[in-house]
Amino acid sequence: MSGIEASYRQGRKVVVIGGGIAGSLAAKLLQFDADVTLIDPKECFEITWASLRSMVEPSFAERTLVNHKNYFKNGRVVTSPAVNITESDVVTADGAVVGYDYLVIATGHNDLFPKTRQEKLSQYQTEYEKIKSSESVLIVGGGPSGVELAAEIAVDFPEKKVSLVHKGPRLLEFVGEKAAHKAFDWLASKKVEVILNQSVDLNSASDGNKTYRTSGGETIHADCHFLCVGKPLSSQWLTGTVLKDSLDGKGRVMVDEHLRVKDRKNVFAIGDITNIPEMKQGYTAEMHANVAVKNIKVMMSGGKKKKMSTYKPGSEMAIVSLGRKDSLAQFPFATVIGCLPGLIKSKDLFVGKTRKTRGLDPKRVRD
Ligand SMILES: Cc1cc2nc3c(=O)[nH]c(=O)nc-3n(C[C@H](O)[C@H](O)[C@H](O)COP(=O)(O)OP(=O)(O)OC[C@H]3O[C@@H](n4cnc5c(N)ncnc54)[C@H](O)[C@@H]3O)c2cc1C
Repeated sequence: MSGIEASYRQGRKVVVIGGGIAGSLAAKLLQFDADVTLIDPKECFEITWASLRSMVEPSFAERTLVNHKNYFKNGRVVTSPAVNITESDVVTADGAVVGYDYLVIATGHNDLFPKTRQEKLSQYQTEYEKIKSSESVLIVGGGPSGVELAAEIAVDFPEKKVSLVHKGPRLLEFVGEKAAHKAFDWLASKKVEVILNQSVDLNSASDGNKTYRTSGGETIHADCHFLCVGKPLSSQWLTGTVLKDSLDGKGRVMVDEHLRVKDRKNVFAIGDITNIPEMKQGYTAEMHANVAVKNIKVMMSGGKKKKMSTYKPGSEMAIVSLGRKDSLAQFPFATVIGCLPGLIKSKDLFVGKTRKTRGLDPKRVRD
């Protein structure tokens, strides 16, 4: 056993920062083996990729928003964003100082509000009312959120005019061109107007005037709009901490093959925040959580480094849901669209499966 591993042998205090897809699973899996504290600005965990369905069917969110205490029963939750890390403690915005022997950073994206499950449910209800009462909807952004929202509205409200404006040359820039073209054609078949290579001046439609101007000089009439641009990584806060030199040029946390932060023995990073060269996906974030948890358990029990698990970057697989039946799937060997790939994701959006991994009843509406 190396000196560093041995020196952490006695400590069992684990702090997980971020209770999203990766952090919630890590906290859940460690809760009976360590003294775990989960730090998250929100009281609940959300199955992020189900949020677009919740905008057209607010009751869908009942299963996708889970209070941390319902899957993480044997630990402490601190509801406040982390703002600093020292060699021994994590400090939160509301002044809590939480000591650690092992640290797991899983702060993914900057998604700090709303704080409570009830507030988030009300937000979905408001968004639904906005869609329902509009004859035309403008969606700004053609990444996965914009495309999935356009598809949800086009399928559930076929009578509404949906326009999607994207500043890039093609939709879904995180997948291949073939997938992007298939998504474009699918949206066109549902009469969604897609405008590429342009941005929208959102201020142009102020004061009750519902006409938006684009950078290309076009005008779009819409009763309401939704901004679907990707949320930035939540790593800016790390620049004032002992980990400031562990970020790469894109603000991602650099990790080794054991998912330990570069040059750190007791600090792990998992999920979208890492610099692992792979497509940023929830299922890989969960694989990271499994690897980091195994390695923390090995270290806590004084195991040798060679017993630690190694993470290998995941395959370039992605599924974009297109309403209630169809999906667009990019597999390593083919790209397919329609109801067959739809069977994998679109009905339940992996909600039951994700709940199960957290020890929850897949179907129960209120935990
Ligand atoms: C529309 C859409 C569809 C998708 N579909 C799929 C799919 O089908 N399958 C799939 O595998 N992936 C999918 N993804 C990707 C998936 O959502 C992400 O890869 C996943 O959410 C990353 O998990 P994470 O835990 O790293 O980060 P997040 O889920 O972003 O969680 C980060 C957590 O950290 C918290 N946090 C942030 N800052 C701080 C701080 N300073 N202190 C404490 N806590 C903090 C946040 O509040 C949040 O709770 C989709 C994404 C989108 C946008």
